[in-house]
Amino acid sequence: MSDVNKILVCGGGGFIGSHLIRRLKTEGFWVRGVDLKLPEHETTCADDFVIGDLRDQKFCEQVFDTKYYQVYQLAADMGGAGYIFTGENDADVMYNSALINLNILNLCRETKVERIFYSSSACIYPAHNQEDPSNPLCSEESAYPANPDSEYGWEKLFSERLYLSFMRNYGLQVRIARFHNVFGTESTWLGGKEKAPSALCRKVAEAKDGGEIEIWGDGKQTRSFLFIDECLEGVRRLMENNWEGPVNIGSEEMISINDLAKMIIEISGKKISIKNILGPTGVRGRNSDNKLISEKLGWKPNYPLRKGIEKTYDWVLEQVRQNSTSAFI
Ligand code: NAD
Repeated sequence: MSDVNKILVCGGGGFIGSHLIRRLKTEGFWVRGVDLKLPEHETTCADDFVIGDLRDQKFCEQVFDTKYYQVYQLAADMGGAGYIFTGENDADVMYNSALINLNILNLCRETKVERIFYSSSACIYPAHNQEDPSNPLCSEESAYPANPDSEYGWEKLFSERLYLSFMRNYGLQVRIARFHNVFGTESTWLGGKEKAPSALCRKVAEAKDGGEIEIWGDGKQTRSFLFIDECLEGVRRLMENNWEGPVNIGSEEMISINDLAKMIIEISGKKISIKNILGPTGVRGRNSDNKLISEKLGWKPNYPLRKGIEKTYDWVLEQVRQNSTSAFI
């Protein structure tokens, strides 16, 4: 096997990582995944999968026992609003993710990996630019002066700078995407780390016809949501492109959380009312700005939100059914 075929996906047991492994396999690469766990919902497509803790330097050295052509660094301690905005997990989020990035990046340098992908987040953008739900500012250059709304965002910003400094000082080829709310099938839908689309799909799937679901905040907060297939398309295009700066990979189809819930309710065919309650929500408005990606990659996401939500709802509904069946066994 020549080096040009070998790819490592860190976080390969997670939502985006497991989908990415499948995509890379269809492109003909030899892929090794590494994670604390195997993918939860499907058998991994990886040629090799190593279970272990990427905070552990010795373990990381074992993972780099071969020369990789590309490394995709997606491993992070993260979750939805219930995990990153309560403040209760701040120390873990910062410490765990920073350690992973320090370990992986240094080994990429030592083993002369040709190109490394780092998954940053829209959470790096300044909170003060995202107070107006109908007009948030998330263009790439607006990241500074920095003021992320969470420690998760600060760690991502630190790590972006870490990767960029390795590019400047050691000549390592780095590509950075700032993901905006990626969703789809096989994502976490239960347990506290699930994000809005899967959480809302679960609430609607579990609700009785004529029932009610609870939504955190007043529901007027806005976001855009990117379907997983388009996220992967963007990642692969970015990795094959010469542009070296961080790029948004997100949808520009902004929607309020209440309207997202209404869309899911309509897809379910049930009659369900919405009750807005107090809860962690993050910034008031956020939307991807796709000027830079269009300019540099000649491509931007355009898959309709509704289509992605239909696929995701069907999948979550199936999980809810299986879960409730197994509860009675
Ligand atoms: P995920 O939680 O499903 O995947 C992350 C994976 O990292 C998990 O499988 C987890 O087990 C693994 N991991 C965590 N700590 C580890 C450790 N110490 N050692 C080994 N593995 C470890 O999340 P995801 O949605 O697939 O996100 C992938 C990346 O994209 C993350 O870096 C995340 O911050 C970033 N991102 C995601 C979104 C999104 O909407 N999903 C948005 C912005 C950024």
